[in-house]
Amino acid sequence: MNTHDIVSAAEAVQAAIIANEEHIESLDRAIGDGDHFINVRRGCEAIVALRSDLLPLAPSEAFKRIGMKLLSTIGGASGPLIGSFFISMGKALEGLPEPDARQFAHALAAGVDAIKTRGKADVGEKTMLDVLIPTSRLLLRLAGEGSDRGTLCAKLKAEAESNMLATRDMIATKGRAHFLGERALGHIDPGAKTSQVAVFAVCDLLTVGATS
Ligand code: ADP
Ligand code: MG
Repeated sequence: MNTHDIVSAAEAVQAAIIANEEHIESLDRAIGDGDHFINVRRGCEAIVALRSDLLPLAPSEAFKRIGMKLLSTIGGASGPLIGSFFISMGKALEGLPEPDARQFAHALAAGVDAIKTRGKADVGEKTMLDVLIPTSRLLLRLAGEGSDRGTLCAKLKAEAESNMLATRDMIATKGRAHFLGERALGHIDPGAKTSQVAVFAVCDLLTVGATS
């Protein structure tokens, strides 16, 4: 993986988030305050706009730069969470000019850990972590086993989707939705949805025309 791949992934995620605008909007209107789509779209725009600044940087520096930018760009609860995700990924990749799948998997896990720490949250609380934690654990396992790219991406997508859907039956114990108690039941968490959309976008990008 190099920084060009990171920028391409950001562009793919941006397009996928925009394509899912209506759904994401309606989820945060139902159990949040309706700004999640705008927050995430703004974050994607900020990353894509950094393109020419990012391309000369090593992946580690590029992720740190993205994280710093997002801290000051995305509002809401998700801004500091997603910002610290990228900064921690960048720190984990220091000294690795072209990380392989296993190194990337470890960095992703470090990023997800940063969200857990900053959000004081874990699985089962009806947040983005319900998608990010299991998907990142699965990536660690599959990358460690040397799984081929097609299999790995198909399994990651299935994991992200089932865990996103599972948030529908959860009561929130973190974020705005926790004020709703049982009234949040029946609604997918918006952050879980955007996380699943991002996983799909990156996996689809990685498997376009790929045979291995
Ligand atoms: P806000 O809740 O401030 O309006 P957003 O709408 O952008 O911010 O983001 C809401 C999403 O953030 C939720 O759907 C949830 O996935 C995630 N979230 C909220 N609080 C936490 C937390 N403590 N830890 C992890 N994720 C959280
Ligand atoms: Mg919101």
